[in-house]
Amino acid sequence: MKKYTLLAIGLLAFNQANAQYSKENQKKYVEELASDAMQGRKFGTPENRLAAELIAEKFKQNKLKPCVGDSYLIEFEYKGKTGQNVCGIKEGKSSDIYAVGAHFDHVGTDDKGDDKVFNGADDNASGTSAVMALSDYFKNKKVKQTMMFMAFDAEEIGLIGSKMLVENTDFQSYLPNMKVMLNLEMIGTVSAFGEGKVYMTGSDRSDLMNLMNNNSTKTFKVENDPYLQQQLFYRSDNVNFVNHKVVSHALSSVNMENQHHYHQKNDEVSVINFENLSEITQGIGHSLYEMMKKNIQPKYNN
Ligand SMILES: [Zn+2]
Repeated sequence: MKKYTLLAIGLLAFNQANAQYSKENQKKYVEELASDAMQGRKFGTPENRLAAELIAEKFKQNKLKPCVGDSYLIEFEYKGKTGQNVCGIKEGKSSDIYAVGAHFDHVGTDDKGDDKVFNGADDNASGTSAVMALSDYFKNKKVKQTMMFMAFDAEEIGLIGSKMLVENTDFQSYLPNMKVMLNLEMIGTVSAFGEGKVYMTGSDRSDLMNLMNNNSTKTFKVENDPYLQQQLFYRSDNVNFVNHKVVSHALSSVNMENQHHYHQKNDEVSVINFENLSEITQGIGHSLYEMMKKNIQPKYNN
């Protein structure tokens, strides 16, 4: 895999300054995040920090405001190491918040074999690229609601980054106004349902799946969670928002019964289907946009 230098990352970022959504740009985000230079983006490493800064740069270009203080990076300490979530906000007239998030950390490197890097292209450069690309998608769209774009650190060591974020006293004031938080988790491959389809973990718990489908494009669809016995609803960052009463599910396309890259070194850019990733990302953007235009507020089932 091509090694990106810091300078190259800077130049790529610079060229995207005026980007609206484009598939080519989203592909670049995946390639940058999953490059060997990022060394598997493990919590507490300089390369993990570099990934966070790359995401923050995108938020800055799209003129988002930092969610807390004057930095997009919201730092936390865990077991003697410093990590950082990344959070940007697009303020609307309404304080109602529609949020998207994805974890950007991965599992780092090991010393076995020629390939030492767990690139984590699907897990979860794919979801992170979608958060970045959605900030492009919404850059010039006017909605009255407030939008929040988040990238979580330290998911791989136990959903720690998102937990630290919802427990951050400065961040917490947003939570009562958060109407939905879509957690994008491994959306780089074609799902068992086919192209342009994702499944929603814990889909039976709220009306969100139906609302998204009723406001969807022709090619994008959200399906029921086919892996209920695997309890995926509780296995990603959405659960920390659920604990604060936010309607929050993960959207994923990974085929849990037939994949060979999950937490393997072959989770490289080559496993990503960019046509499908782009369709899914734009589908999510379209559904969110339509829901906001109609002021639709998802609810948990009783
Ligand atoms: Zn993972």
